[in-house]
Amino acid sequence: MTSTVQGYANDSATAPLKPYRFERRDPLPHDVQLDILYCGVCHSDLHTAKNEWKNTVYPFVPGHEIVGRVTKVGSAVKAFKAGDLVAVGCMVDSCRECPSCKEHLEQYCDQMPTFTYNSSDKHSGKMTYGGYSTHIVVDENYVLRVPKEYKEEDLPGVAPLLCAGITMYSPLRHWKIGKGSKVGVVGLGGLGHMAIKIAHALGAHVVLFTTSPGKTADAKKLGAKDVVISKNPEEMKKHLKSFDFIIDTVSADHNLDNYTELLKRDGVLCLIGVPEHQHPSPNIGNLIFGRRSIAGSIIGGIKETQEMLDFCAKHKLKAEIEMIPIQKINEAYERMLKSDVKYRFVIDIASLRK
Ligand SMILES: [Zn+2]
Ligand SMILES: [Zn+2]
Repeated sequence: MTSTVQGYANDSATAPLKPYRFERRDPLPHDVQLDILYCGVCHSDLHTAKNEWKNTVYPFVPGHEIVGRVTKVGSAVKAFKAGDLVAVGCMVDSCRECPSCKEHLEQYCDQMPTFTYNSSDKHSGKMTYGGYSTHIVVDENYVLRVPKEYKEEDLPGVAPLLCAGITMYSPLRHWKIGKGSKVGVVGLGGLGHMAIKIAHALGAHVVLFTTSPGKTADAKKLGAKDVVISKNPEEMKKHLKSFDFIIDTVSADHNLDNYTELLKRDGVLCLIGVPEHQHPSPNIGNLIFGRRSIAGSIIGGIKETQEMLDFCAKHKLKAEIEMIPIQKINEAYERMLKSDVKYRFVIDIASLRK
């Protein structure tokens, strides 16, 4: 049995998103069905809609920063009930048997996790459709709980935590950032602004690297102690060999040496963005002299995503957002390409029910 969903999709790399109706399965014994309230707009939505990663299957329904309310649960579900506020992030399933899945690191599943959109659906055999839609059905093991501390009016700002938030939280935790750590954040966008907030809440001394002097005041409001204009070599030099950790959210190709030389001995430069053209090969001397590392990281596991939501609730953290009706989504994509958003668009899914 299935139910009809109203969503938004596009049907080619150059086509805009428009209304699209499709079917979702009725809850199986371990499924949770939720009405979607808000869905964040991630850069991955845009990259996939435009087939920039050359793997998009159309029609394509984006959205993996989902907050909603449970409407129905399967017969075996104990942890959730109708009325609960829940969230769904970038994954809706994984193999559950490989070493990564067994260690709660489903994002590194050997078989690749089933992503919330544009992934092969184990149940239907078709592609998964994301959160630009009225409701979704997800296995209970991949559903998160929205902490009670969040009020109704906080929920739009909670949605981006499901991708932007966890993408920053997981590496900061993995590299044990806390009091006494000096952390650099490269780029102030949807990801960077969450990195500043979370690293600050973890007790770190946070420095933003940006190319735009206009962002200084905002970065400080978000929790940065210092702002460095990265195209000014003099300013950069002041921070030589001083960072424990630098998280680089910029996806355009750039010279990584400017950052590796700012790391202390054993410091780590962690890359989050996937550049369309490779970064220039880094200077190996910078790595050897100082035992420094260049690393990468992607989202976080389900258990850690819950931990991140609980941490953010405790520290009263949420994303800075601009809410839009779904009818403005194509315009929002245009504005994202110009970095004209502070710092995340969130779709009010009520606009889809009208
Ligand atoms: Zn995302
Ligand atoms: Zn696995």
